[in-house]
Amino acid sequence: MPAPICRAGADLVGSRAGLFTVEPTYLNDCRRYRMSTIHEQFLASLDPATGEVVGEVPVTPAADIAGIVDEAREAAAQWRALTHQERAGRLTLAGEALVERSEELGTLLSREMGKPRDHGIGEVRSCGAGMRTKAERAAAALAPVAEVTNDVETTIYRDPLGVCALITPWNYPVLTTHWMIVPALMAGNAVVLKPSEETPLIGQAYAEVLMGVLPDGVLRVVHGGDEQGKALVAASVDLVAFTGSREAGMHIMAAAAHGLKRLVLELGGKDPLIVLDDADLEAAARMAVNNSLDNAGQTCVATERVIVAAAIADAFEARVVELASDVKAGPWDAAGVTYGPMIHARQRDHVIGHIREALEAGATALLGGPEQPERYIEPTVLTGVTGDMRIAQEETFGPVVCISRFESISDAVREANASPFGLGAMVFGADEARAHDVARQLDAGMIGVNRSLGGVGDTPWVGAKQSGFGYHGSPDGTRQFAQTRVVRRVAVAASAGA
Ligand code: NAD
Repeated sequence: MPAPICRAGADLVGSRAGLFTVEPTYLNDCRRYRMSTIHEQFLASLDPATGEVVGEVPVTPAADIAGIVDEAREAAAQWRALTHQERAGRLTLAGEALVERSEELGTLLSREMGKPRDHGIGEVRSCGAGMRTKAERAAAALAPVAEVTNDVETTIYRDPLGVCALITPWNYPVLTTHWMIVPALMAGNAVVLKPSEETPLIGQAYAEVLMGVLPDGVLRVVHGGDEQGKALVAASVDLVAFTGSREAGMHIMAAAAHGLKRLVLELGGKDPLIVLDDADLEAAARMAVNNSLDNAGQTCVATERVIVAAAIADAFEARVVELASDVKAGPWDAAGVTYGPMIHARQRDHVIGHIREALEAGATALLGGPEQPERYIEPTVLTGVTGDMRIAQEETFGPVVCISRFESISDAVREANASPFGLGAMVFGADEARAHDVARQLDAGMIGVNRSLGGVGDTPWVGAKQSGFGYHGSPDGTRQFAQTRVVRRVAVAASAGA
């Protein structure tokens, strides 16, 4: 296993703190690179609850990235020579190591990103524990398939593409990397990963676990912000697998057009939850609260709009306020905390801006509001939200339950679909057939009826409209990380008999 390149925690503070002038407010406002006294550029990672430096990584000079991609391509030869089963075996070992180290890595994740420690550990552990199954399913999806018609054998191969660029966000820094890296590696590709500049330490640590089972150089990590991301997209990569905002996705799609690079884009969402008049009120209210507030609302499939039948709206809102009042925000290591701070001040200001503008435009705060403690947004419940408000249109990515009312189901469907996003959606209603009928009218990639969204087993993680372009999960998703190649020849049996 290569020596870790990042320094973390006490080690850093003891040895390098003198290199920085640390001003917590500035640091939490925007994580920037600072020049150390040895004239190397470092990216400092900060605890969003305190602004303290958790660790640092060297920033990869953008000019070096094309060369790193070329080196990764060379290194891929050894990896692509293995069978799918051999690759799955190696990744399974990495999965076991992730489970073994889940407390340590999960704690690092939480310190860097802010989510409660058990959530951080759970994210790492679930990825590790699911590795064997995920890798073996990928092996099955990528296996050659032959068909003989008359005397002609046609074989469909799923070959490596070459080098995959993986560019990931901070909100689920391990999960979003894991989802893309497993199919990319299983298909025999080399990978150059650029973790989010907000969570470089856990990105590096996760990658180092995988490097421990891979041939040298097959997985490379570059660190930095959008400058490094752009340089990676511009390099001679064969596929860009990106999870992040719609805006960055648009840039990447335009940039990838030069060279016609393959794309998998998992982008933002504005998920609606429709509560029909016969819904189990308790279950619907719990879902609205949990799925709006979890991870401080910083989840791509968070519920961002709750569209509730007017007939039950008063009772529904009262229960939502009761439930949300019990939810506690706090630091990653505090007991009894549901979610942590906002990742940085920019994100906190963005959410507060949405709340403030909605109130000015006629919405009512049933809980919380625009006055918030430093670094956090306490659970906030708004009602009277209308489609023309910014909070109903843009991704908010904050712990806000936004409620509007509908009179007819067609109005509810129209409102739910009135968004350029189409990642997830949910419908709650006791008449399953009617709820299912509503679900089928929603323009989203993943829809839950009386439960959370996302399929079971090996199903696609997929967005509709501007939430996604390409996807992962499922045999079809896995195959997007491979080059399909069709070879036609005289069937072996026929040529042997001739
Ligand atoms: P972001 O788009 O700001 O950044 C994501 C990554 O892209 C970072 O590594 C960043 O450095 C890099 N980047 C930014 N601009 C780039 C460019 N022009 N070219 C290349 N790289 C670039 O997103 P974020 O703030 O890190 O994450 C939050 C967003 O991610 C939200 O919109 C959320 O909905 C989305 N997300 C989607 C999913 C999904 O599965 N669909 C999952 C998690 C998060």
